[in-house]
Amino acid sequence: MKVREHIEKAQQAKKTLFSYEIVPPPRGRSVKDIVDVVEVLAPLEPPWIDVTSHSSTAFFQENNDGSIQKRTLKKRPGTLGICGVIQNRFKIDTVAHLLCLGFTREETEDALIELSFLGIENVLALRGDAPNFQKKARADRTMNNYAADLVSQIQDLNTGKFLDELEKSEALNFGVGVAGYPEKHFEAPSLKTDIQALKKKVEAGADYIVTQMFFDNKKYFEYVRQCREAGITVPIVPGLKILKSAAQLKSIPKNFYIDLPEGFVDEVQDSPAHAAELGKRWAKKQIEELLDFGVPSIHFYVLNDVHSVAEIVRSFK
Ligand code: FAD
Repeated sequence: MKVREHIEKAQQAKKTLFSYEIVPPPRGRSVKDIVDVVEVLAPLEPPWIDVTSHSSTAFFQENNDGSIQKRTLKKRPGTLGICGVIQNRFKIDTVAHLLCLGFTREETEDALIELSFLGIENVLALRGDAPNFQKKARADRTMNNYAADLVSQIQDLNTGKFLDELEKSEALNFGVGVAGYPEKHFEAPSLKTDIQALKKKVEAGADYIVTQMFFDNKKYFEYVRQCREAGITVPIVPGLKILKSAAQLKSIPKNFYIDLPEGFVDEVQDSPAHAAELGKRWAKKQIEELLDFGVPSIHFYVLNDVHSVAEIVRSFK
């Protein structure tokens, strides 16, 4: 079933859904790593689980002799296979993340065909972050530059329009989500221009939005207000992350370009040994407010903390 259908059904039943986002294991690890995570989530009856996608990156490494070497970190594979396992072994709908950067449109078309053969009906269309390393696309290959271009490619396939003109082609059938940023995407000059870019993704055919993580609900409420004012009517699913350690007070703003509320930062800094407990307490407070606001669904960035997420969700069941 499509994410949008899950949301509409829940809204009719006046229920709020809890969904989850997981990351494929590092190259060289087995699928068991991810099955263990899904086994913790499955009893919570997730309407859907997202599986992230990763392109290759390059970095400079300084050797002991002082020389500097360019190294490539190969992409973390497994998104399509993991979606197939979750969808077919656990019978839970999955949302495969697809990226523009690091992938040609031809590779994306292949991935969408693979996903449809696996019975997967949902994708989240993302631009990705400019990888330092990008293999130059062959002259006969094409790229999507922005997520809106990727949404258009998926919608073309949903009408049977493949990159080559094919005889007797059958339409694919994907629901499409896109990303939104209550605290603005870091490259956008203003929240207003970022919301205009978001509107283009919806006009291209996205049928729901999932937000970047936030710790201050006021930012989400104001974002929803501004999106609605701009004429965006699709569901805007809030994304939450449970703070796990005092070190994350620095790493989360650095990696996700978001602010943490002052009161929460003070609490954790005053008592760093209790950061995980304080993080759970803060998340519970956020969830209670979001439920009162009537959100359609709450999306958890699980990362490597599935047990905290499961504990919190159980307390709301
Ligand atoms: P876009 O919507 O393309 O926007 C990117 C920037 O360009 C924005 O600043 C926007 O305002 C601007 N823009 C858009 N269109 C135009 C235009 N036509 N002209 C000028 N400017 C424009 N990353 C991964 O690598 N893998 C993942 O699995 C992954 N999952 C994510 C899940 C969620 C819910 C979220 C919120 C983010 C995720 N990301 C993931 C991170 C994401 O790839 C980055 O945030 C990326 O920098 C932007 O992606 P986007 O799809 O929002 O880009």
